[in-house]
Amino acid sequence: MRARCLLRDLRDALGETAVKTDPNEISPYLVDWRGRYSGTAECVVEPRTAQEMARVVKTAVAHGAAVVPQGGNTGLVGGGVPSNGADGRTQVVISMRRLNRIREVDPLDNVIVTEAGVILKHAQEAAGAMGRLLPISLAAEGSAQVGGVVSTNAGGINVLRYGCTRDLVLGLEVVMADGAIWNGLQKLRKNNTGYDLKQLFIGAEGTLGIVTAVALKLFPLPHSHTTTFIAVPNPDAAVKLLRHLQAELGDSIVAFELVQRACLDLVLSSVKDARDPLSERSPWYVLAEVSATMKGLSIDDLVEDSLASAAEQGFVSDAVLARSAAQRAEFWRLREEITDAERRYGPSAKHDVSIPVSLIPEFLAKADDAVRSRFPEAKPIAFGHVGDGNIHFNVLAPVSDTEAIGMVVYDLVSNLGGSISAEHGIGLSKVDLLPRYKDDISLTLMRQLRLTLDPLQSFNPGKLVHVRPLEN
Ligand SMILES: Cc1cc2nc3c(=O)[nH]c(=O)nc-3n(C[C@H](O)[C@H](O)[C@H](O)COP(=O)(O)OP(=O)(O)OC[C@H]3O[C@@H](n4cnc5c(N)ncnc54)[C@H](O)[C@@H]3O)c2cc1C
Repeated sequence: MRARCLLRDLRDALGETAVKTDPNEISPYLVDWRGRYSGTAECVVEPRTAQEMARVVKTAVAHGAAVVPQGGNTGLVGGGVPSNGADGRTQVVISMRRLNRIREVDPLDNVIVTEAGVILKHAQEAAGAMGRLLPISLAAEGSAQVGGVVSTNAGGINVLRYGCTRDLVLGLEVVMADGAIWNGLQKLRKNNTGYDLKQLFIGAEGTLGIVTAVALKLFPLPHSHTTTFIAVPNPDAAVKLLRHLQAELGDSIVAFELVQRACLDLVLSSVKDARDPLSERSPWYVLAEVSATMKGLSIDDLVEDSLASAAEQGFVSDAVLARSAAQRAEFWRLREEITDAERRYGPSAKHDVSIPVSLIPEFLAKADDAVRSRFPEAKPIAFGHVGDGNIHFNVLAPVSDTEAIGMVVYDLVSNLGGSISAEHGIGLSKVDLLPRYKDDISLTLMRQLRLTLDPLQSFNPGKLVHVRPLEN
């Protein structure tokens, strides 16, 4: 009866077609990208404006229901799907799909303003059409939405040069738990008028408010790129190569990705037409991209010279430069297909961790040893954005071992001063782990913040941080 009233009120607020209850239609919204988390929901709603979003939130809260914001549903930690952590409350999934207008691309202020449901790739293309670069880039960019990217503070391949999403957001529009619409959609680079409130919602995983629109920084489009696939003897050489290239090429290095041979093998064995770029096998590779924003600069020659001097110092065993746009895309496909190839292979324990860059070689050696000695069947594979200290240390292993493997890896990460989540967030997958690795004062502040902004715990309950400490 209560649920029927909720549905009726939501339909009154949004119209009949924007409230979906057909089990076949809503089932894709109830399970996460990896198929590891699923839950039930009364309905999926599709508001088209911030005002409609406000009505959804007010209606759900009035009925004591919880709301679960969902973007492209590419998150890897189960944050965007309904959960059992809602204490038996009715859950409403809010799809951002129809909140999909690009409000403005402003080449003078170098800003793009998009609604939350705009697909990241579409935002990049809109900026590109005006001669500007939106530098947030990740393998899921064809499905991930701007609101999801902001709510997870996504990283991706260009963090080395341009920073994380947090560094690129200038303003936000957010629907609060009481249904008020906070207009913080500014385009200012400087604004010292007190707390930087937008930062609260970036990386909050939908627990503090619903992001409805975002203003993001744009940059000049590079005039040329050099993409190179490099064989390196080990991770230590990769880190030294990074510093060597930076010393010679400055911040023109945009991306610097480490790939273990086992990852390349997974991709080569499961992706049609994928080819090994180099003739000899190497245990490790780096995929690096250098770009020039200055016109008329030939960076291929500079990169080749730097790689030659790196080879003399033993940091590089072999390398090939992409000679066409198609070859550049081929190199990137090898990197971007790793996550999907891993999913096709079978279950794995994923660890999206960050460590100080200098300690990556030590971490990789110790983690590999620790996992192989305790779980002889397990196969660790590593890749990631080594330029910013972010490694995806994943372990192909049965689901029954994943929790125990996680403890081994995270304890090591913590001992090295690292973070148990570099860019994917906490969601459901790490919510019970957070208290083990985060200090008490931080946890208390996070809980207080959550209770202040959402006193009835209507936003994404059970995700990111438990509001009450876990009982031992
Ligand atoms: C193949 C692949 C590669 C990936 N590579 C990277 C990578 O390199 N770097 C990286 O950081 N991530 C990566 N990811 C993870 C994922 O793509 C990012 O986390 C992305 O930002 C999620 O966007 P989404 O729209 O799919 O969000 P969803 O998965 O739908 O949601 C993610 C979280 O944000 C919340 N949320 C969504 N929209 C809103 C909103 N409008 N307001 C408030 N809360 C909201 C959800 O409740 C959930 O907690 C990858 C994922 C895949 C599948």
